[in-house]
Amino acid sequence: MEISPIAYIKSPYKQKFAIPRQPGLVKAALGEIIFEADYADVNCLRKLGEFSHLWLLFRFHETVEKGWTPTVQPPRLGGKEKVGVFATRSTFRPNGIGLSVVENLGWQQQGKELLLRVGSIDLLDQTPILDIKPYIPYADSIPQARAGYAEEAPTKIEKVEFSDSAERQLDDFEEKYPRLRELIISVLIQDPRPAWRHKQPDEKQYGMSLYELNIKWRVESDGIKVLEINLEND
Ligand code: SAH
Repeated sequence: MEISPIAYIKSPYKQKFAIPRQPGLVKAALGEIIFEADYADVNCLRKLGEFSHLWLLFRFHETVEKGWTPTVQPPRLGGKEKVGVFATRSTFRPNGIGLSVVENLGWQQQGKELLLRVGSIDLLDQTPILDIKPYIPYADSIPQARAGYAEEAPTKIEKVEFSDSAERQLDDFEEKYPRLRELIISVLIQDPRPAWRHKQPDEKQYGMSLYELNIKWRVESDGIKVLEINLEND
């Protein structure tokens, strides 16, 4: 069996740390799917604009070399309990294939390049896209579905604040990176720290990358405080 990517995605998430654990959690996570030459044909996208949401099938390219194990410890269970790989959305699985439903924000042609804008993504930058299909509510949405240990959306951090300097830096960068404030806040309220850190006092200063920015933050008694936002290489 041979599969080759139809496209690669440009994403604000440049590293695995702080990527939300599912799509839909961070609406301001905007991506651009850039089609490979063989598929950079507007005919392939005819009537795609009629669908508000799309399924993306993709390759967990960053972790696929690490293989898989029959059981995994999902963060939702505090990283302590083991469940079968097929009862999880873990990235460490046979074939390393990911599946996400995303918002369709429309396609556009830029010179020879054909690109499709998507929102609410949970994909790493440069992830190879294997296929795209429309999301079809009458078949795909099952309101009465049971979801075991993942029934409820994960609890969120209550408050995200910006220091005075982060606030100024945000003003500077928002022009270049649309919806940056919303992106930072909605990434942080998911609490990107490893599960075992959640219930402990934590004085650590964390850094995360979004676009070309490095964002420093720490946990305070009532939420998260963003300390600084700088260009990655400064
Ligand atoms: N919605 C997908 C992904 C769930 S796991 C699915 O159910 O299949 C979500 C995690 O995938 C994110 O936290 C991120 O760290 C990881 N991820 C996203 N793109 C990746 C990639 N290209 N390679 C490896 N891991 C990736």
